[in-house]
Amino acid sequence: MIPVAFEYARAGSVDEALSLLGEHGDDAKLLAGGHSLLPLMKLRLAAPAMLVDIGRLNELSYIRDAGDHVAIGALTRHRDIEISDVLAQHAPLLSHTAEHVGDNQVRHRGTIGGSVSHADPASDLPATLLAMGATLVARSASGERTIAATDFFTGFLESALEPTELLTEIRVPKLNGAGWGFQKFNRRAQDWAIVGVSAWKGANGSGVALVNMGSTPVRASAVEAALASGASAADAAEHAADGLEPPADLNASPEYRRHLAKVLVRRALEAAGA
Ligand code: FAD
Repeated sequence: MIPVAFEYARAGSVDEALSLLGEHGDDAKLLAGGHSLLPLMKLRLAAPAMLVDIGRLNELSYIRDAGDHVAIGALTRHRDIEISDVLAQHAPLLSHTAEHVGDNQVRHRGTIGGSVSHADPASDLPATLLAMGATLVARSASGERTIAATDFFTGFLESALEPTELLTEIRVPKLNGAGWGFQKFNRRAQDWAIVGVSAWKGANGSGVALVNMGSTPVRASAVEAALASGASAADAAEHAADGLEPPADLNASPEYRRHLAKVLVRRALEAAGA
């Protein structure tokens, strides 16, 4: 339970963090809330030689109405997302999701940028960002680029971010009055989801994504297609596990997860008014 020795630097600005990343490359890791990285280091599943602490970069902690979307700084804590008036008005699916992440301590330390960059298929916020069609903004010393959430999660704990890039902002389209539903099935209130579902449905379409149903957070495309062709919530939900290979672990078999996904997608869609 003791990490391999590492060097530590606290970045005073985004530019300083980027310069440290550029200098140390693959040997460096950013430290935000530390709630995913530090457990991995203690288990020696990660052993970065240099930790670049960005946890006090307040310039990256904000939630702003930006017209057609809400802009969220990568260092924004789960708790701030949970209680944001801007998100309650324009993207209540995201604030409701944040309310279900871990316990109070986790929500006060963990950041949305850390959750997304960690790319854990069992995390709640990435699935909601996928369902909502969010855009992620990454910056490196050579400039800035945007990545669609659908292109971001590339494998188990792997993302499209380069080692020299820092996620700075998450842009979440407004729901504009669309109905939404979030379902998380776990054994104890503060646990990770055995399976989770984020869904919205409005006049112009729908978005449905799943937690812990594959090696990445996944979009339930077959459900969205069924809804687009006029299927009821119950009929569309029957497609929840189409083409997916859910994991097996101590909590559930793949068959159980497939069953859960259908039940939870139906409930989420019914809550969304589908
Ligand atoms: P860190 O641990 O600091 O970093 C995680 C990874 O992201 C690292 O590789 C780091 O280098 C990278 N990173 C961080 N910020 C950036 C950035 N801006 N740009 C590029 N890379 C970056 N999550 C859930 O979704 N649901 C749960 O129910 C849940 N339960 C939890 C229970 C416990 C007991 C704990 C300890 C954690 C739980 N979590 C849960 C995880 C929690 O949400 C974490 O906060 C989150 O996954 C990681 O955020 P962080 O800020 O702590 O990131």
